[in-house]
Amino acid sequence: MRKKLKTVEVVNLAYSDFKSKLVKKLFKDFYAKNAWKIRPPTSIEKREFAFILIEGGEMVRHKGFSSLNGLIDYIKSEIPLHVYYSSAYYANPAAKEMELKEWLGADLVFDIDADHIPTRCKEEHDAWRCNNCGAQDRGLLPASCPRCGSKHVTASSSWLCYQCLEAAKDEAIKLIEDFLIPDFGFSTSEISISFSGRRGYHIHIESPKILSLDPYARREIVDYIKATELIPDAQGFEPGLKVPTIGDYGWRGKLAKGLYLYLSQASVSELSDVAGPDITGGGLETWRNNLLKNLEGGSGPWLLPSSSEAAKKLFERAVAYQRCNIDERVTTDVKRLIRLPGSLHGGTGLQVLSLSLNDLERFNPLKSAVAFRTGHLKCFVKHAPQIAMMDQTFGPYHEARVELPLAVALYLLLQGLAEAVGDNS
Ligand SMILES: [Zn+2]
Ligand SMILES: [Zn+2]
Repeated sequence: MRKKLKTVEVVNLAYSDFKSKLVKKLFKDFYAKNAWKIRPPTSIEKREFAFILIEGGEMVRHKGFSSLNGLIDYIKSEIPLHVYYSSAYYANPAAKEMELKEWLGADLVFDIDADHIPTRCKEEHDAWRCNNCGAQDRGLLPASCPRCGSKHVTASSSWLCYQCLEAAKDEAIKLIEDFLIPDFGFSTSEISISFSGRRGYHIHIESPKILSLDPYARREIVDYIKATELIPDAQGFEPGLKVPTIGDYGWRGKLAKGLYLYLSQASVSELSDVAGPDITGGGLETWRNNLLKNLEGGSGPWLLPSSSEAAKKLFERAVAYQRCNIDERVTTDVKRLIRLPGSLHGGTGLQVLSLSLNDLERFNPLKSAVAFRTGHLKCFVKHAPQIAMMDQTFGPYHEARVELPLAVALYLLLQGLAEAVGDNS
């Protein structure tokens, strides 16, 4: 028995050692040719940098660089698995203790991640587990465990999926075009966008206007964007009050737009469910058309439905269309470490990429963020859902020996779903 255990350990050690060497070689070759793609943040000399190393997976923090060349030299010599910089500016970014760094301000950062967006395909490719009671299920990662209520729930599978990435992209565009530019008044030159290298987008505001905002002020911004504690009757969703119109400022206008979208697409049975017993049969279509006209700019009050409950249901549907799914922990953290554009994501092998707003609309990370575009690798895949990369689909696989394009094989390897086998050199 003891002998058998020892053999397993040796095999695992040999495998993980081989994987480290392979990843290190690939990342080294990549940075040798592509380090020029690294996009440093402004005021590089005031930022803290952090790296996760390939061997041992330890994080090296409190690094400072006075120039881009210094940063690139470090990355080329250490070949880190992950590269981060601080959203904060410090007088002494390399100081080993946070108190000695002297915080000077921080960019306003938004993180949009498919992990938090309820796409239907998650039932097929995502799974989670509760670290408290051991409950597990497929689908969207819940905020807390439905069995024991613990918040210690973690994703056991979060797959790179085109639909999920598109949903994250739509959310990023919504954040910029519906909130940051019209409501907060930021200009496109103050907004920078990057693909996170996995399932989302980072949106940064670099502006003296937001530099000194503390976490509480940033929380107010989060609450506005997520429509936290928005009150229906304060926004006009109450029988007898004036219906909000699409041209209204702030949330009133957004809700009018959201309700317009909902009413335009809802089936008659959905409308009947929302309107309640007040409106039935052919009356539903008349009600829908009148309300749509009112939302477009009519000035009438709500005539029907006549209950606050029905108005609240309409409000909730409008909010669901218009709120933006940002990760509040990232925005309220004034000392956050963020992935560096131009670096590789060590969990996927994809590149973290800077994008313009125009790029974003057409951007497909499963094509444009692929770092390793040539070569193949023979692997043993334990289990993997179907994946699409570079306009081709692969899998699903279950205990299969396959030769895959390097980018796909590396992703499965980094996810721990496959092992390199055979005569790969
Ligand atoms: Zn639980
Ligand atoms: Zn998906």
